[in-house]
Amino acid sequence: MTTPSPATESTSEDDLDSALVTARRQLERAATHADVDPGVVERLKHPTRVQQVSVPLEREDGTVEVFTGYRAQHDDVRGPYKGGLRYHPEVSAEECTGLSMWMTWKCAVMDLPFGGGKGGIAVDPKSLTGEETERLTRRFAEELRDAVGPTKDVPAPDMGTDAQTMAWFMDAYSMQQGETIPGVVTGKPPVVGGSYGREEAPGRSTAIAAREAIQYYDREVSEITVAVQGFGSVGANAARLLHEWGASIVAVSDVNSALYDVDGLDVEAIPSHHEEPEAVTSFANDLDGDDSVRRLSNADLLELDVDVLIPAAVGNVITADNADAIAADIVVEGANGPTTFAADTILEERDVPVIPDILANAGGVTVSYFEWLQDINRRQWSLERVNEELEEHMLEAWDDVRAEVDAEGLTWRDAAYVVALSRIAAAKETRGLWP
Ligand code: NAD
Repeated sequence: MTTPSPATESTSEDDLDSALVTARRQLERAATHADVDPGVVERLKHPTRVQQVSVPLEREDGTVEVFTGYRAQHDDVRGPYKGGLRYHPEVSAEECTGLSMWMTWKCAVMDLPFGGGKGGIAVDPKSLTGEETERLTRRFAEELRDAVGPTKDVPAPDMGTDAQTMAWFMDAYSMQQGETIPGVVTGKPPVVGGSYGREEAPGRSTAIAAREAIQYYDREVSEITVAVQGFGSVGANAARLLHEWGASIVAVSDVNSALYDVDGLDVEAIPSHHEEPEAVTSFANDLDGDDSVRRLSNADLLELDVDVLIPAAVGNVITADNADAIAADIVVEGANGPTTFAADTILEERDVPVIPDILANAGGVTVSYFEWLQDINRRQWSLERVNEELEEHMLEAWDDVRAEVDAEGLTWRDAAYVVALSRIAAAKETRGLWP
């Protein structure tokens, strides 16, 4: 499945690969740079299992509808499967498989003791009432009960699901198991074992990755301009943190349009997607008459001449069609898969560094790991501790990837995949293939 973006109106069809095709291609590419057994690479091309379940739901009008749910488990050589559950009409076995592979690389590059999983239900969450969502989630938890668990597979929120969804999932699982087991999912509200700082974590890690990249290329954060596509959980948190560190955020956007001020926007004043959906557009409407602020399309935002571009909305927005027009010095991927394979090649030829999603936005799964530790130990960490440990994990992962970039002259993406693949391959070779 691909997620075409309204942000790029005329994208070549063949440029938009499915998550599975992209994940396999990236694995093959990384394998050419890493010294790993071809047998291990072959094994990693295939998920351990992909479970399909039927999820019946009684609608508010008394009729019954049956939805299809999936859970792909790619690889668990380093620990339990970990990855989101999404509610979206286009969820499919193939998409879940591809995304579960990405999670394997993401957990490995962060050196977390997890493998990759992903799942979801093919449903439009907007078509459900709150009570229907709760019933659907509880039944889905029951259908997946044998497959999940704190030491087996630990889901988390994703597109169309949130902390409340995870609380229902945890409750249903716990009721059936006969004991409270908060570590079965992460991304829960803190009152039922969730971690402080989980929601902000992918944006925070994206900001940390941007800061490290800026310093790597001998610039100061206080000197740079940043454009951020998408002002949601990832985009707004990244923008606000970089702003706090002295960067000038010159452009932000929501699904409708972008806002641009060459002197920098007050990103604290613009409500994020969660504070008020599509508020960038309404904020822009309120500014009509203010000549310093211009409205742009999402496509124009991507082509602004800024120091750092952070695509933090949806996948496949930097494509073969606009990669030549990207004027930013550095791209930091806040969203999952914002750069297509073809665009990546063009940016590499143009010497535009791309800090890959599996490193930049990995703060989410890293704080999920912290949540899992807190749940198992029945302790709650302070927000300060979470942020300190996240910073530490990000810097360690950054250093590991940077070492590959420096030693082998690889792109940041290839270096991140080599770090991940080497760790997974070492674990596989050490454990061996049984029988
Ligand atoms: P979100 O729903 O909080 O915000 C998305 C933002 O993007 C909103 O401002 C929305 O208006 C805008 N948007 C939506 N479609 C758009 C389009 N076609 N063009 C331009 N803007 C558009 O989402 P989020 O949680 O911030 O996730 C954003 C991206 O980051 C996704 O790719 C997601 O997979 C990835 N990600 C999220 C997390 C997480 O835990 N939230 C973790 C890792 C990666």
